[in-house]
Amino acid sequence: MDLRFTADQRDFRDEVRTWLAENIPLVEWLLFEEEYYRSGAPGRVNTNGITLLGPTLFAYGTPEQHERFMRPMAAGDEIWAQGWSEPDSGSDLASISTRAIRDGDDFVLNGQKTWCSRGAWADWMFCIVRTDPDSERHRGLSYLLVPADSPGLERRPVGRLDGEPAFAELFFSDCRVPAVNLLGEEGQGWSVAMATTSSERGLNLRAPGRFLAAAGRLADLYRRASAEHDVDPGVLDQVVRAWMAADAYRWQTYATASRLQAGGELGASASMMKVFWSELDVELHATALRLLGSHGELVADAPEAVDAGSWMSGYLFALSGPIYAGTNEIQRNIIAERVLGLPRK
Ligand SMILES: Cc1cc2nc3c(=O)[nH]c(=O)nc-3n(C[C@H](O)[C@H](O)[C@H](O)COP(=O)(O)OP(=O)(O)OC[C@H]3O[C@@H](n4cnc5c(N)ncnc54)[C@H](O)[C@@H]3O)c2cc1C
Repeated sequence: MDLRFTADQRDFRDEVRTWLAENIPLVEWLLFEEEYYRSGAPGRVNTNGITLLGPTLFAYGTPEQHERFMRPMAAGDEIWAQGWSEPDSGSDLASISTRAIRDGDDFVLNGQKTWCSRGAWADWMFCIVRTDPDSERHRGLSYLLVPADSPGLERRPVGRLDGEPAFAELFFSDCRVPAVNLLGEEGQGWSVAMATTSSERGLNLRAPGRFLAAAGRLADLYRRASAEHDVDPGVLDQVVRAWMAADAYRWQTYATASRLQAGGELGASASMMKVFWSELDVELHATALRLLGSHGELVADAPEAVDAGSWMSGYLFALSGPIYAGTNEIQRNIIAERVLGLPRK
């Protein structure tokens, strides 16, 4: 067997590489995010679609799927939610049991998903389901795009600690989904899902601009607080550390973007970035609450609330960072095994 590529194949590969280098504006996207957060613009409703599913669609979608889904996603006309976790499968995602059995041109889904962010009102869900009922673990899974109005899909909203409407549980009872909505090959869902998790943990979900803007606001809060009353000098160190960490994360992200543009892969190092940004977010908001003292506990519409209570709501949300996108304990396992090469036990 001759394993060498032909001249035509090498030309094709060079053409693909050149096109991607010229058309995937990674660095410009990071700059856009910096300016977006710096301006204090509102949170965007379709982050699950644009930052998680979008890159996966680019990599695995058919031309028909690109045509069907990309524009409404980018325009915010169709909102996406991630339907992966199940009541008994969170960290151990490979153990999911929601089934999707092929029947003619459809898959028939039965099972339950939970912690589906935006699931209460999203238009579509990208789900991991078990299409081979005899399979175990990573094998026999598929990645399916499910319309929220599918007959047999019931959504039950779940309230969040901060009172915001967000989550839903999804119940599938003989829910039929067209087989053309399969993303990637049937049975190859784990590989497709890993492409999404790399984006989620390492680059796309939490752009540095978010933390640079928050660190800038924290420095401003420190200036205001120290002009009004004595501030523990140790808090200044924490403000400076948060600012430096946000800047370090920025340069690390640019280095990662350059590596990707040069043909490298994100891989397991995405876990290091996820631990870094999620712990930075908690520490940054905790520092703000130390500065604010008892004022930090005032709710948004209290007359003396500082910055409309955003530091407390930001802190509550930051607490979930070490849990979602795969818990930090799991990320540390991945770093130990796949980045440092340590033994599994
Ligand atoms: C704000 C938020 C948004 C979310 N959004 C979504 C969403 O949109 N879609 C979706 O599908 N899911 C979502 N999730 C669910 C999230 O992915 C899971 O909560 C997470 O993967 C952990 O799973 P679990 O809650 O079942 O905890 P478990 O897996 O039961 O873990 C419990 C504890 O045990 C630890 N643990 C488990 N296994 C190990 C191990 N091998 N080694 C060391 N420690 C271990 C964990 O770190 C954790 O501390 C969201 C969660 C949050 C908090």
